[in-house]
Amino acid sequence: MALAPKLTNTLSGKKELFKPLHKGFVGLYTCGPTVYQYAHIGNLRTYIFEDLLKRTLLMDGFRVKHVMNITDVGHLASDEDTGEDKVEREASREGKSAWDIARKFEAVFLEDLKALNILPAQKMPRATEHIDIQIKLIQKLEKKGYTYRTADGIYFDTAHLKDYGKLARKNIGGIRAGARVAEGEKRNPTDFALWKFSPQDAKRQMEWQSPWGIGFPGWHIECSAMSMKYLGETFDIHCGGIDHIQVHHQNEIAQSEAATGEPFAHYWLHGNFLRIENTPGSDEKMSKSLGNSITLDTLREQGFDPLDYRYLTLGVHWRKPMAFSWDALRAAQTARRELMDFVRELQTNKDRAKGITYTKHLTAFLEAINDDLNAPKALSILWKLIREFRTSKSHNTPMALKTILQFDHFLGLNLKDATKAQEALPQHIQELIAQRKHARQAKDWMRSDQIRDQIKSLGWTIEDSPQGQKIKKL
Ligand code: AMP
Ligand code: ZN
Repeated sequence: MALAPKLTNTLSGKKELFKPLHKGFVGLYTCGPTVYQYAHIGNLRTYIFEDLLKRTLLMDGFRVKHVMNITDVGHLASDEDTGEDKVEREASREGKSAWDIARKFEAVFLEDLKALNILPAQKMPRATEHIDIQIKLIQKLEKKGYTYRTADGIYFDTAHLKDYGKLARKNIGGIRAGARVAEGEKRNPTDFALWKFSPQDAKRQMEWQSPWGIGFPGWHIECSAMSMKYLGETFDIHCGGIDHIQVHHQNEIAQSEAATGEPFAHYWLHGNFLRIENTPGSDEKMSKSLGNSITLDTLREQGFDPLDYRYLTLGVHWRKPMAFSWDALRAAQTARRELMDFVRELQTNKDRAKGITYTKHLTAFLEAINDDLNAPKALSILWKLIREFRTSKSHNTPMALKTILQFDHFLGLNLKDATKAQEALPQHIQELIAQRKHARQAKDWMRSDQIRDQIKSLGWTIEDSPQGQKIKKL
């Protein structure tokens, strides 16, 4: 029987066996970035978690159609439909056009995904290229009587929908009353903008004609319009970070289900937050506005590979908060390097298949990832295999390699490139290694030691083994 994961569904608050709408196929929508700034590693934790979900489904044999939006307009500085548009605000700060800002940060984001080995979505629709379907969706809601007009926009009337708030109510015991924000002309605190009018006194860079006047879409409508366009009115799985439960996803459900009369997504998965540990005991969320953002470039400047960060996130279950610390990242770096060294050893070893086959490890691994994407457990099974390989006399090199590379379909650590990564040593280091090899063949031990010291001063260590020289970054 084909495998299927059990997943904790925010909608029911329970771990449920995943049943697709269509046999063997999964429609997956993940909320994408607002492209006005660099993504911080908290944002990226959420995208890694979504990647683990997708990789599990692929390993189970599902075809996955993955859609992720790019929010390149209209995301206001607050969840309450007030404040400035983040893209336009950044543009005026930088003295660039809003379009330049959006395209620049979208490109950087795509590079980040690549560096973290996150599989690309099949479709990454931009909100600004789908204004027409957003307007159509609002018109549909208008016809059904779900909307009303205020001085600054067209709003969704949440009191009109019997089950408004079902996502948050199940999980956080209530929806935010919203009373602390000025309600303005809103009829209910939870009502939200579908269309905002451009201000009378200032010209926006991004604005469109609509049946209600010149303006721009509210933040939530793009996700409903674009997910339904590419995945159908009802689809399988919708994901994002936990901050989206209360407002954004609540409102996506409300407007989609009000428009179609059908359930929107069957499974809702929300990744928990990355928190930053500045000082022991501190427990602050990482956010752009708190000014404690760490980006992939910050990690690179400190000598880390983005995949060290990917490895680090694998150690904490996606439903749990994760505390970031540099010490933990260093430990992850060491572990990942050891893993790469081990795989390289297997790749260069010419042993023939004999001994145990590691099927029980593979079975345990698949069970772990199908049990709510338990990455920490999956990692521990990988290390168990390595320990057993090292201590057992009946180990089987080709099968161990094959099994670990299968694990990597989920882990996404680029393990198959372990040898290639080795070959990617800087040219001058490669030359020194070749010179040392000659010195050793000529039994010129003094010269060999000199070269080893020289290589060390350049940041690499050398170990001599029966298979030859092994080089590692210090
Ligand atoms: P944004 O670009 O702000 O819409 O955020 C992109 C994604 O990152 C969303 O799915 C958020 O829920 C998620 N996110 C924001 N901050 C964090 C954080 N500190 N840790 C984990 N995920 C986050
Ligand atoms: Zn969304």
